[in-house]
Amino acid sequence: MLIEVSRGDDGTIFVQSATVPQPADTPFDKRIQPYDVKAPKILPQIVLSSEQYNRIIRILEQGIPVRLRMDVDVKFTDEQPGMNIIGEIPGTDLKDQIVMIGAHFDSWHAGTGATDNASGSSVCIEAMRILKALNLKPRRTIRIGLWSGEEEGLLGSRAYVAQHFARREGGWMNPHGVVTTKPGYEKFDVYFNDDNGTGKFRGVYMQGNAAVWPIFRSWLAPFAGMGCSTLTLENTGGTDHLSFDAVGLPGFQFIQDELDYEARTHHSNMDVYDRVQGDDLKQAAIIMASFAYDAAMRDEMFPRKPVEISVKGKSSK
Ligand SMILES: [Zn+2]
Repeated sequence: MLIEVSRGDDGTIFVQSATVPQPADTPFDKRIQPYDVKAPKILPQIVLSSEQYNRIIRILEQGIPVRLRMDVDVKFTDEQPGMNIIGEIPGTDLKDQIVMIGAHFDSWHAGTGATDNASGSSVCIEAMRILKALNLKPRRTIRIGLWSGEEEGLLGSRAYVAQHFARREGGWMNPHGVVTTKPGYEKFDVYFNDDNGTGKFRGVYMQGNAAVWPIFRSWLAPFAGMGCSTLTLENTGGTDHLSFDAVGLPGFQFIQDELDYEARTHHSNMDVYDRVQGDDLKQAAIIMASFAYDAAMRDEMFPRKPVEISVKGKSSK
């Protein structure tokens, strides 16, 4: 049995998955994860709050043996298929072209996943409800994707992109891998993601694509009074827009208020309903709906970043 101390205070315990011992320089995407069906057997691993852990250490420092009694009852199941949830509002004259919004639907186990990522999922579902309730007839099809397996490595969104749009040679994280496309690639317009907690939308990360600046600037204009007006050329990582960005498709994550996401709720036992800010989610849903509609109604498709693409064996930029 291994015991690990959690960062966090006031009874907050941050806990994700167990660790499989392997050389420290093993690249992230080559590491064996404990939930891999080929993973070796490992010792059970327990996370304690710092107050509990430190007390054990203090007693041991006095030379007094510590006895812990635990009821550990967990097991790995056989390999389970992940499931993405997909829905759409069909377009009209440009219905073959796809605008997507999305969020991951899975979470870690210590809490209920309220801010990571029921919040983002509910924003996307509410955005679709708003568009439907207004009975708008978008030119392009607006599709929602609620992804499985994000926490284990964007598994759901990567599989969806590979199945419908494109895959990158040597794995999605290989910056030099040529992109092989499917017919859906040319018809894909843009993807917007929500996965940074319950906080308000404050703007958009442009993922290094300067050509989208004037578009986002005009789309955000109506929302300055709601506190959403910032644009940054910066990349932001760690979530499902990367699955699109990795193959040269426009994919973006909103800038959000941090609130107590890192300090309290992200991957912790405090990721529960009480931490959700309802008014902030409403603001986000309105902006998400507006961005999806604006994208669906635009005359041109979204500008893309240059990427090396393989077309029937030949590659071109
Ligand atoms: Zn998340």
